[in-house]
Amino acid sequence: MAKTEQEKKNAKYWKDRAIRMEEGKEAQAEALSKRTQRMYKRSYKRLEQDINALYAEILDKGIENISATQLYDLNRYVELRAQVGELIKGLSIELEIQLGDLLLNISIDTIKENGLEFSTGFNMFNEYQANEIAKQNWSGVKFSDRIWGNANDFNTRVMTDIEKLIVEGKTPEQLKKQLIKDFSVSFNEADRLIRTESSRVYNQAALQSYIDAGCTEVDYLAESDCCDLCEPYKDRRFPIYEAPFIPVHPNCRCTYLPVIETMS
Ligand SMILES: [Zn+2]
Repeated sequence: MAKTEQEKKNAKYWKDRAIRMEEGKEAQAEALSKRTQRMYKRSYKRLEQDINALYAEILDKGIENISATQLYDLNRYVELRAQVGELIKGLSIELEIQLGDLLLNISIDTIKENGLEFSTGFNMFNEYQANEIAKQNWSGVKFSDRIWGNANDFNTRVMTDIEKLIVEGKTPEQLKKQLIKDFSVSFNEADRLIRTESSRVYNQAALQSYIDAGCTEVDYLAESDCCDLCEPYKDRRFPIYEAPFIPVHPNCRCTYLPVIETMS
C-alpha cells in the first residue's frame, strides 16, 4: 500500500469512512423499500375496486351462501383472479428490475470509491467483478428466484383468502382487512430482501476492493445493537480470507473495516 497520504489517515478515519459508506448503502436500500411500499399500496387499491365489483355482482344476482363453484361462474370473480395474478406479477417484475439495478449500482460504486481511496483504480476487470458480485446469491437462492418464489406464495395466499372469506360469508370490509395483511406480509418479505441483498453486495464488493488494495486483515464492525448471531464476531480481527460472511442473517447491518498496514 502506498505510504504518505494513506499513512496520515488514522483508525478513526477508516472507521468513520466504513460507517459512512455502510449508511450510504442503507439509505439507497431504504429509498427502494419506500418506492416498493408505494407500489404495493397502489396495487392493493386496484384490488379493492375489483372486490367491490365482485360483491356488487353477488348482491345483484341475489345469491345467498355462495359456494366456491358458484363463485367461479361469476365474471367478476374470474376477472378478480386474473387481476390478482397481474398485479403480483407487475410488483415482482418491478422489484426484480429495481433491485437488480440497485445491487449493480451499489457494487460498482463501492468498488469505484474504494479504487479511488486506495489508488487501485477501476478497470474493465473491476467492472466484471462488480457485475459478478451483484449476481451472486446469499443463501443459495438468487434474489430473482426468491422474488418469484415469494410472488407464488403471495398469489396463493391472496387467492385462498378471497375464496375462503367470501364463501364464509364475510363482508367486503373483513375481506379487505385480510388482504391488507396479506399485502403487508409480502411487502415485509420484499423489504427484507432489499436490505439483506444490499448488505450482501455492499460488503462483498467492499471486501473484494480491500483484497485488491492489498489488505490482509479486516475488523468486524458490528452494528451498535447487534444480535446474538453477530455478537461473537464483534470487534474481532480476521485474516481477510477468513472473515465471516456479511450479512450474517437477514437485515444484518454489520460491515468490514479494512486493517491498514500503516495504522498503529
Ligand atoms: Zn449483524
